[in-house]
Amino acid sequence: MLVREMSQQECESLLARVGRGRLACVRNNQPYIVPIYFAFEPGRLYGFATMGQKIEWLRLNPLVCVEADEVLSHTEWQSVVVLGRYEEFRDVPEHLEERLQVQARLEQVNHLWWDTGFAAAQARGRFDRDITLFYCIHIQEITGRRASSDPVEQR
Ligand SMILES: Cc1cc2nc3c(=O)[nH]c(=O)nc-3n(C[C@H](O)[C@H](O)[C@H](O)COP(=O)(O)OP(=O)(O)OC[C@H]3O[C@@H](n4cnc5c(N)ncnc54)[C@H](O)[C@@H]3O)c2cc1C
Repeated sequence: MLVREMSQQECESLLARVGRGRLACVRNNQPYIVPIYFAFEPGRLYGFATMGQKIEWLRLNPLVCVEADEVLSHTEWQSVVVLGRYEEFRDVPEHLEERLQVQARLEQVNHLWWDTGFAAAQARGRFDRDITLFYCIHIQEITGRRASSDPVEQR
């Protein structure tokens, strides 16, 4: 297997294509990671959530890491790691424009963008529209690695 660095364009293309990854945050030196859906646009990831542990932690420390990948086989895969900063758009009039923009982007990527966040709220026994959150992750750094099979190994 050969592993090489992915270009910025390849990384962005993967983020746009997969629309799904893992969001890691940290509180008091304790990491926490959960799968999320997102919509990519240059410089940003957009997401939707309801109020729970990850949002509580992100409010305390907005620095995040997101990983997304596409695994075709043991030797054919791509993985992208994003470092960024979380910004929240709460359900208040001042954030209406941003919320509509994020919602429109999420809708383009996945018409069920809202489903998992609401299901998480139900799992917590809370279902209140006031706790819906749209957010943006401002991308500060992207790196990617891509594996392919090594023709020499196959001989
Ligand atoms: C493919 C996929 C996409 C998803 N997309 C979204 C999304 O876009 N928005 C969204 O809000 N949620 C999404 N989820 C669900 C998400 O991973 C979390 O389960 C959910 O958001 C609740 O997280 P929370 O931090 O608010 O946990 P809380 O509801 O506050 O619960 C915290 C407790 O539950 C545990 N826990 C929470 N989530 C998980 C988990 N996934 N696996 C194991 N233990 C868990 C924590 O360790 C902790 O003990 C997605 C899940 C999957 C599999």
